Amino acid sequence: MSHLVTIGLETHVQLKTRTKIFCGCKLEFGGVPNSQVCPVCLGLPGALPVLNREVFLLGLRAVLALQGTPSTVIKFDRKNYFYPDLPKGYQISQYDSPLGVGGSIEIRSGDKTKKIRLNRLHLEEDAGKLIHDNSPDASHVDLNRAGTPLAEIVTEPDLESPEEAYDYLTNLKAILKSIGVSDCDMEKGHLRCDANVSVRKNEKDPLGKRVEIKNLNSFKAVKAALHYEIGRQSEAVDKGETIVQETRLWDDDRQKTISMRSKEQAHDYRYFPEPDLVPFSVAKEEIEKERKKIPELPKEKKDRFMKQYRLSVYDADLLTQDLAIALLFEDAVRLGSDAKTIANWITGPVFNYLGEHATGIEGTKLTPALLVDTSGLVVRGDLSLQAAREKVLPEVMEKGRKPQEVVLEKGLAQVSDDAAIQGWIKEALESNPKVVQDFKSGKETAAMFLIGQVMKKSQGKANPGKVRELMIQRLKAL
Ligand code: ZN
Ligand code: MN
Repeated sequence: MSHLVTIGLETHVQLKTRTKIFCGCKLEFGGVPNSQVCPVCLGLPGALPVLNREVFLLGLRAVLALQGTPSTVIKFDRKNYFYPDLPKGYQISQYDSPLGVGGSIEIRSGDKTKKIRLNRLHLEEDAGKLIHDNSPDASHVDLNRAGTPLAEIVTEPDLESPEEAYDYLTNLKAILKSIGVSDCDMEKGHLRCDANVSVRKNEKDPLGKRVEIKNLNSFKAVKAALHYEIGRQSEAVDKGETIVQETRLWDDDRQKTISMRSKEQAHDYRYFPEPDLVPFSVAKEEIEKERKKIPELPKEKKDRFMKQYRLSVYDADLLTQDLAIALLFEDAVRLGSDAKTIANWITGPVFNYLGEHATGIEGTKLTPALLVDTSGLVVRGDLSLQAAREKVLPEVMEKGRKPQEVVLEKGLAQVSDDAAIQGWIKEALESNPKVVQDFKSGKETAAMFLIGQVMKKSQGKANPGKVRELMIQRLKAL
């Protein structure tokens, strides 16, 4: 039987600043270990943290874009725990006065939309990174990451399936990218997620014991881990076993969760106010100034695309997840192309190319003008859709070449010229007298064979619509 599922997500997002949250160390990915550190982020005695103003402003912008209420007093706290990658023995975070409370993100739930409420957004510093594979008998620590500014965004337990969790993360990423607060590059660890999940049999039962899953490094892993964990807990509940409240680790290779430790309670962290950072209040004008920097959000853009360009929810959704894609679409349409045609080009062949090459649109040489040129060749009948998708577009995207040039070089020009097509038709009829006879005696499918012969003779270059039209004309006249 199926169980009721309750999911909450905690997402850590790296804010897009040049330097760390409490010191001036650079934030560059892939530096030599421990080359981007100073007394503050190394946690040396006596070193004092200073809040990076940009971190606060980006966090504020995120709170506002997520419809949350910004706190008017900014206060930091120490979260104490021992782990070798945490040099101070505590993490500077925010406990009882987070940067923002409330807010929501809209997601798809079947064919309806649903609001996922947010509990809070707070700022904190990241820890360093342990390296275990440098030598067989020692672990090393790289503190370049220590002090990286993070915004932790916590939902209420409103998610009810792995698919909803996936959709929530996709929308969260789209919003944060569009307002410029994070690149949300998962491969660089910009977005990390922990999930809390519990199951119960009936609506009337109390919420089940929460299990927290850590180490979810991709949206795909979130979905897979939740599916696995829901299955595991449902089975246990059915057998009458009790679920223990614990933290489990997702093992991506074995596609299962493994018990890590019993879950800490907040008091285990002995939170107390950070004495080295004085609380400060935020002026209303400052909040309004940041609000003005928020551009059209993906959800608003989606609604506008559906109205202005008469696109389906599906197309509008796909075109507004990524700002660069939305711009490509709108600029191409502005150049005079049909909106639905351009939408099909982007959500079809362009997305295929991006998927195959595991890149974003920025990683290609495609421009709105080149996309319009490519689709125009097909619209005018100078190039077959198939050749355009398979042979021309990849060249354009990879090298930024003009599509007309690729067509010439590869000899792909589609032949729409009547005389040339009539010539092939004549040959096809002459070499297949029996099939022609079949058509005359009422077997209409015989025409399909003859059209195929013409396409073959033209080496696929004849305009199929034109061939069909002329062939039928010719056969009927016989
Ligand atoms: Zn530093
Ligand atoms: Mn955290």
